Amino acid sequence: MARSGGALPQPENAESFPDFSAAARAVSPEGLRRERVTTLQVNVGKLCNMACHHCHVDAGPKRREIMPRKVAERVIELLAANPAVATLDLTGGAPELNPSFRRLVTEARRLGREVIDRCNLSVLFERGQEDLAEFLAANEAHVVASLPCYSAANVDRQRGNRAFETSIGGLRRLNQLGYGCDDPSRRLDLVYNPVGAFLPPAQAELEGRYKDELRRGFGVEFDRLLTITNMPIKRFAAWLEKAGQLDAYMGLLVNHFNPATLPGLMCRSLVSVAWDGTVYDCDFNQMLGLALGAGEERTVWNLSDFEALAQRDVATGSHCFGCTAGAGSSCSGALQ
Ligand code: SF4
Ligand code: SF4
Repeated sequence: MARSGGALPQPENAESFPDFSAAARAVSPEGLRRERVTTLQVNVGKLCNMACHHCHVDAGPKRREIMPRKVAERVIELLAANPAVATLDLTGGAPELNPSFRRLVTEARRLGREVIDRCNLSVLFERGQEDLAEFLAANEAHVVASLPCYSAANVDRQRGNRAFETSIGGLRRLNQLGYGCDDPSRRLDLVYNPVGAFLPPAQAELEGRYKDELRRGFGVEFDRLLTITNMPIKRFAAWLEKAGQLDAYMGLLVNHFNPATLPGLMCRSLVSVAWDGTVYDCDFNQMLGLALGAGEERTVWNLSDFEALAQRDVATGSHCFGCTAGAGSSCSGALQ
């Protein structure tokens, strides 16, 4: 797989990688099209208390891109105006560090929507967040927490020194509040992503191992394990490039293209809102600046009815092979 200039797999040089849209059209002539929007995924900014090696957002403690209050208020308006959107999925960075986070949660819950908080666990111990776990429990937020392994060494290698110990502390805190014990109002799912340039193992099997190891070693409980493939973009792509593994990883994804994953791709039923209010087909496209499939710029200000997006094309690039390799990958875990 030849590639020029050592550049990362951004849309502007994507022609040097296989064409994902051609692969999708070979399966279904209309390619990748949207269906009804049922999830509004909102990236409230790049500020994070951590700076993990695999982060596709390039998030970190020094980032200043934070969703302003007026954009957050517009998100709430859009949620109210679009009853088919059942879920508000809050991500970042560490979404809890955005000053509008708690208002987004409480308003979405008041509107009867499910709220997902993509939580890095260590944020529960940040100054000013001492009551965060109680807040999440009181609002019955569904917590989806990253834990790339049940081994301390592997987690610390990917997420930084003492990340595992802090994560276990966070999980225990959530368990004390009733999270992770098969209660639909206290859902706690963990996210596994590979600590290197390989595909995730089978989700169900790995979930069993996680449950055994975390229960036996640390007395920790959780509901489901979601396996997610590392996307070859941003910080992970830079790491692959530095390690001389970018082409091999892209080859791995392409060679494991699984057409059966196409119907369940999250971009068919989700829209992704950036911190500045721009709307994308998914969080990965957002990070690449790849405009919504229809081509015209869409923002929370000029989009009011999500039904208008149904049957529109999804914008794709070579990174999309990350969602369709093997068992497939989405923010809700494996697709098969
Ligand atoms: S992967 Fe998550 S916790 Fe780590 S830097 Fe990125 S946003 Fe923060
Ligand atoms: S990267 Fe985004 S647009 Fe591409 S297949 Fe995955 S979810 Fe869909």
